[in-house]
Amino acid sequence: MDTIQYILSPREAQEAEQKWRIVKRSVDARQRELRVHLTILTDDKGHPIAKDAPIPLYEPPVFQDVHHAKRSVIIIGCGPAGLFAALALLEHGIKPIIYERGKEVSERKKDIALLNRNEGLNPESNYCYGEGGAGTFSDGKLFSRSKKRGNMQRVMELFHYFGAPDTVLYEAHAHIGSDKLPGIIKRMRECIIEHGGEIHFGCRVDSLRELKVESLKFKDTPIILAIGHSAHDTYRMLAQEGVAMETKGFAMGVRAEHPQELINRLMYHLVENRKSKDESIIDFVGNASYSMVTQVDGRGVYSFCMCPGGHIVPAGSSEGSCVVNGMSASHRNSPYANSGMVVQILPEDIPGEDPLRGLAFQEALERLAFEHGIEPNIAPAQRMRDFVEGRASKDLPACSYLPGIVPSRLDEWLPAHIGKRLQQGFRDFDRKYPGFLTNDAVIVGVESRSSSPVRIIRDPETLQSINTPNLYPCGEGAGYAGGITSSALDGINAALWIAGE
Ligand SMILES: Cc1cc2nc3c(=O)[nH]c(=O)nc-3n(C[C@H](O)[C@H](O)[C@H](O)COP(=O)(O)OP(=O)(O)OC[C@H]3O[C@@H](n4cnc5c(N)ncnc54)[C@H](O)[C@@H]3O)c2cc1C
Repeated sequence: MDTIQYILSPREAQEAEQKWRIVKRSVDARQRELRVHLTILTDDKGHPIAKDAPIPLYEPPVFQDVHHAKRSVIIIGCGPAGLFAALALLEHGIKPIIYERGKEVSERKKDIALLNRNEGLNPESNYCYGEGGAGTFSDGKLFSRSKKRGNMQRVMELFHYFGAPDTVLYEAHAHIGSDKLPGIIKRMRECIIEHGGEIHFGCRVDSLRELKVESLKFKDTPIILAIGHSAHDTYRMLAQEGVAMETKGFAMGVRAEHPQELINRLMYHLVENRKSKDESIIDFVGNASYSMVTQVDGRGVYSFCMCPGGHIVPAGSSEGSCVVNGMSASHRNSPYANSGMVVQILPEDIPGEDPLRGLAFQEALERLAFEHGIEPNIAPAQRMRDFVEGRASKDLPACSYLPGIVPSRLDEWLPAHIGKRLQQGFRDFDRKYPGFLTNDAVIVGVESRSSSPVRIIRDPETLQSINTPNLYPCGEGAGYAGGITSSALDGINAALWIAGE
């Protein structure tokens, strides 16, 4: 087998994709005319392989029956890191036992519906906590294809095996969507249980020591710690129990939302009011996304987790705080384009020595945003140009954030080292994409959970905590991964080390 590469118009690419086996696809929007880069599988003579040829897409996983397995591993947290660790353990004949503080996905959905209707936050079942972790009700972007930390393609294959669309196998910027993810996560759970693994929902681990007492009954069972980065209470418990941690750099800011049609125009170089051609392009390549980055006063300012055709969501996990994030459904077809717009924060930006001081810093900003919103979840917001030019917004544009937004002076109350840098960042982005800085866009506060401010220090080779034997911190909460795919891969790596591979 070999491959051949083509650079095609969207229409040609669409036709090719219906006929041939695609192994890579990316959209190039840098030129005035959109181009699609396609890599097609060929036979040894260079003939393209038909889409439905009887050649397996990949080697399917083989999960072993672990009902009576000799070895078991405890996993704390059922996000991508915990779930993929469990699947990898099953492949190696080891029984995973997962403890998850939140609920299973269908029950969790009901709590999320209440949250979106502004009818209250369940602190144990929300956008952060519950089956599938923070990845379940997300855009489901599966970006990172870095080979550095292992086999990313295997993560994509497992998502596909459990029901993700074929595009996750070849699309450069694949995504699944929050309407499809719950079903995929449910099938992963069913597979784990069917093969003899255990998942205990509504089980928050409040003491590692006590859990270790239990684990001793299983002959010193290893513990994979996959808690994500929102569980501040769990970090504090770990600190109290002496697990080695340190502060790490992270990022905070706001979520910006534009009309999607404006972003399509800027990114795809479309002409205003020329609808018919534009619609056919967008039908195939989808609504446009963007990625922005600049440097302001020695710190990065960048877009984060951009959700074309998406929604802004209330992503906090505790009362009295206002946290936003973004998600989209598989078709990415809402009229809004949102993205985190964040400023890099380095450990030296937060005074003190406490390894958990980044958490306190996040919490303070989330409380401030809550105070400038309206209880329980109406978020403070400002038109983008008003924010940059230091003016109050008399009113706000329509916004996808279901609980609602209220005008607020983010330009005044955001800490200057974040607010001023964001203002300059938006000016820089507008220089690159004139029209980006507009009062048709709104910024909503605050985007504070883009990455973990803490690292649970582990040995680079054995992946074990440097001072707590048999504890394997992994995923985003451990500070070694960011996003769904790299967290999933980190979970797999922990499992493989334990399995002895
Ligand atoms: C709204 C939203 C949209 C996002 N969109 C994307 C995206 O499009 N693409 C992308 O790559 N990333 C996205 N992310 C980030 C992504 O979801 C995370 O990077 C990823 O889920 C991290 O995986 P994890 O397994 O390390 O942790 P998590 O997914 O956070 O899972 C940790 C789990 O541990 C549980 N837990 C915590 N403490 C305890 C305890 N003491 N006892 C028992 N259980 C506990 C939690 O309930 C949670 O279920 C998004 C996040 C959010 C909130």
